[in-house]
Amino acid sequence: MKLFSRCYLIITFVLLAVIVQAQGLPQEQFLIYNAQIVDVLTGKIKSEMALLIEGDQIKALGDFNQLSKDIPQSQQLDAKNKFIIPGLWDMHIHLEVQGLEEDNQALLPLFIAFGITTVRDCASDLGETVLKWRDEINAGKLFGPNLFTAGLKLEGKNSSWKGDLEIENETELNLMMDKQDVWAPDFIKITDNKLHGELFLKSIQAAHERGYVVSGHVPIDLTLEEMVDAGFSSVEHASYLNRLGYDQEEIVAQLKAGTLTNAQAGALYKGIFDQQKADRNYKILGDKGLYVTPTYIGGRQIAYGDEENHLLDSMMTKYLTKAFTAEYLKRIERLKNETPEQMKERKQTYQFNISQLVHYQDAGITILAGSDGAVLNALVYPAQSLIQELQIFQDAGLKPIDVLRAATINGARFLKKDKEMGSIDIGKRADLVLLDSNPLEDINATTHISGVFTKSSYLGRADLDKILSDAREAKVRLDKSREK
Ligand SMILES: [Zn+2]
Repeated sequence: MKLFSRCYLIITFVLLAVIVQAQGLPQEQFLIYNAQIVDVLTGKIKSEMALLIEGDQIKALGDFNQLSKDIPQSQQLDAKNKFIIPGLWDMHIHLEVQGLEEDNQALLPLFIAFGITTVRDCASDLGETVLKWRDEINAGKLFGPNLFTAGLKLEGKNSSWKGDLEIENETELNLMMDKQDVWAPDFIKITDNKLHGELFLKSIQAAHERGYVVSGHVPIDLTLEEMVDAGFSSVEHASYLNRLGYDQEEIVAQLKAGTLTNAQAGALYKGIFDQQKADRNYKILGDKGLYVTPTYIGGRQIAYGDEENHLLDSMMTKYLTKAFTAEYLKRIERLKNETPEQMKERKQTYQFNISQLVHYQDAGITILAGSDGAVLNALVYPAQSLIQELQIFQDAGLKPIDVLRAATINGARFLKKDKEMGSIDIGKRADLVLLDSNPLEDINATTHISGVFTKSSYLGRADLDKILSDAREAKVRLDKSREK
């Protein structure tokens, strides 16, 4: 009996030790109270609630008196008159250009200062480096937003982008997909510069069969419907959807039969746009669960580039290195050569493109907010351009709640992370932004941030300003290091 109880005791101690080890140290708790919590799922505001965070997770939502019991004063924040939203997601960025690794890396914290706690990198020549940054951020070794990435993207031979995984046949496709399985990107991106319909469609199928979410451009010789049926989830750049206001099926059929050239097809897509036909087609794709990341801001910056002096933008003067903005400056120079007619046409195209946004929303196509911020996309500034994109969505007629969903829960759903991220709910990751005014009245509220909670820490205004000044210092240092 004695021996039995001694054994029992030892086993109990061992078990306890294992449990304590598994749970690690007790997670630090943080309480935010008096908050107006924006519930992006219901579109309602939960008033004057307390929100208990443990580590990087939302532990409880409820009454201040109940939740504050064991929390020291130093771990409490009075959020009176503040509105709390889930951290924003920029669903289309590129960390790119070899030689500019340091410049890109120095900008990662800047996203946090703009309330962007998650980004989706849509492939670049730095793909393998970005995959490494993703893992370092996840391991807490590098400070930046949660980073999802496609790594390197699939393309045809002699693609105009550097670093693509170029394929010519199914054997090469499968080899590249084997490589992808080793890299483990968060989704697969496929583009249409040199990759034509047949192999593009096979690429969608192959990626889908291996369990990836698939996104990308739309080759001219495929219909969106056949792509979605093959496992394609999101269209990057909404202008591809304009083809749905034309006889897309007929044009694609003729391209496949060889009775129409790409140039002829392109000309047909410049004819009269049929809004009713487009709406019917949007609805078919909405019902099939398609997502779209419009990326309007780049088009806007160029279309109105003759009316605005971007040389004085704070992103240009303070945060982005000379090497980073070299392409931007070239683009500004080239704009000067455009005729008034060309600029007028750019503005008309832009206005037409944004006019379709409410049609997507009404048709049930899920909208993702993404900037396309990158070195090679003129005047599309990292971090800030996402906030500008949100303003465009609102100006184009989207309700503020739908704009907010496009920049939070929709992104999480697209990446199948909505059980753990994307809204303010118990058990979800505590990525939060505190705003001074109500974003459901005006999405411009996202430009007035008083604090961000992410990676188990609260960053008040002074901390966010420190991130900004660090970024300014990094720019000066990098610029200096390249002088002479
Ligand atoms: Zn892009």
